[in-house]
Amino acid sequence: MAIAGAGPAGVSCAVALVRKDPSLRGRVVLFDRARFPRAKPCGGGLTGHADEAMRALGLELTVPHLASPNATVTFGSLSRAVRLQRPVKVVRREEFDASLVQQARDLGIEVREATPVEGFSVDAGGVSFGAGGRTLSARVLVGADGVGSAVRKHLHHDQRSTPIRLFRLEVPAGRTGWARDTMLYDFTAMADGLRGYLWIFPAPGDRLNVGLMHYPSSRGAALSGADLTALLARHLQRFGVHLDAPARGWPAWGYTPSAPVSAPRLLLCGDAAGIDGLTGEGIAVGMEQGLLCGDQILHALGSGDFGFRGYRRAMRRATVGRELAIDRWLARLLYGGDAWRRWLSLVLCDDRVLDLYAARVCGSLVLADHKRELVMALLRHVFRSGNRRQRLALAGPPDRILSVS
Ligand SMILES: Cc1cc2nc3c(=O)[nH]c(=O)nc-3n(C[C@H](O)[C@H](O)[C@H](O)COP(=O)(O)OP(=O)(O)OC[C@H]3O[C@@H](n4cnc5c(N)ncnc54)[C@H](O)[C@@H]3O)c2cc1C
Repeated sequence: MAIAGAGPAGVSCAVALVRKDPSLRGRVVLFDRARFPRAKPCGGGLTGHADEAMRALGLELTVPHLASPNATVTFGSLSRAVRLQRPVKVVRREEFDASLVQQARDLGIEVREATPVEGFSVDAGGVSFGAGGRTLSARVLVGADGVGSAVRKHLHHDQRSTPIRLFRLEVPAGRTGWARDTMLYDFTAMADGLRGYLWIFPAPGDRLNVGLMHYPSSRGAALSGADLTALLARHLQRFGVHLDAPARGWPAWGYTPSAPVSAPRLLLCGDAAGIDGLTGEGIAVGMEQGLLCGDQILHALGSGDFGFRGYRRAMRRATVGRELAIDRWLARLLYGGDAWRRWLSLVLCDDRVLDLYAARVCGSLVLADHKRELVMALLRHVFRSGNRRQRLALAGPPDRILSVS
């Protein structure tokens, strides 16, 4: 079994395989083009879902992390403080990912670093691919090779989609005065055309991880990378955070339930399959998908059928797929259209929906299990949205779409 990419998704898939079938030890190989520790731009937020996936995989959190039990959700002067039922643990990805790779090695999984998987072809007997200047073959190739995944490109052919964009930077916490136990989710920049939110995550080593997520929307403003970095810098100033350098941005694919995630002998997981559209969460998602991927491979080894035709359905039915699907729907509602004020006022002014939002961002519940409650709140909101939108309008800046650059 060959796995391209030794990030959280790839490691999870490999670990799931050898934990569930120890006879696979020595027969699962992780290939990564980088050497660990390698740089990985990320907010580093590990939610309750990540905790659960790690527990299921028998992986330990061995690196420095900072757990925040509180969150502030804001739009302008409207600020709601919430308690997180599962504190979000913020890690440095360089350290976290290297520790996962080490734990995989300790389980007898071979990890070949600085060895990109280059080109592959599938035939009835398996997959042939280039790695380290040689042609190798495997029964299955898993594409856990991140946002630029070669396996994803192969499966998606000419399908076009617009990526989510994420920008982040780390700054010293000392001079800002931002609380060390509080995560910030700030939507104020939506009045400037952002379709997403800005974050401040307290990180280990007296640092703050700051950034923003912008969801692609045909209706929203066409913000350039320069617009988004300017928005981030300007809005962070309200929280006493001044950026010495511009943040850098990266794309990510949002999960789409109808998009292909497998072909005969090929499977996708992690960023290659798609991340959460509402929050930008991808670490827990990658681990949960890695577990699913492992199950698919074990089933194929047992049955001799390597078509993986049921993987997309299995993903949609699993907790991770149901959560990704509801978040995609909510993201389209909140970020995708002109009515964002209506839906944001629901999140900020309805106490129960705010609780559900907080529970989702910290992973203390499965939002998909509360679909009915959410729909009822949406319906109730139709009658109350006038007052709530007025509250939001009074709290926030006027719309300044496209006036940022
Ligand atoms: C700015 C930003 C902030 C984010 N914040 C959060 C957050 O706070 N919480 C959260 O849960 N998620 C967050 N995410 C998402 C999260 O970082 C990703 O979803 C997560 O890293 C996905 O893990 P992965 O294993 O799929 O991919 P990756 O971690 O990207 O790993 C893929 C690996 O594949 C390797 N690779 C690539 N091509 C090849 C090849 N051809 N052959 C072999 N190896 C290859 C790469 O070197 C890499 O090591 C954020 C993302 C960004 C960009």
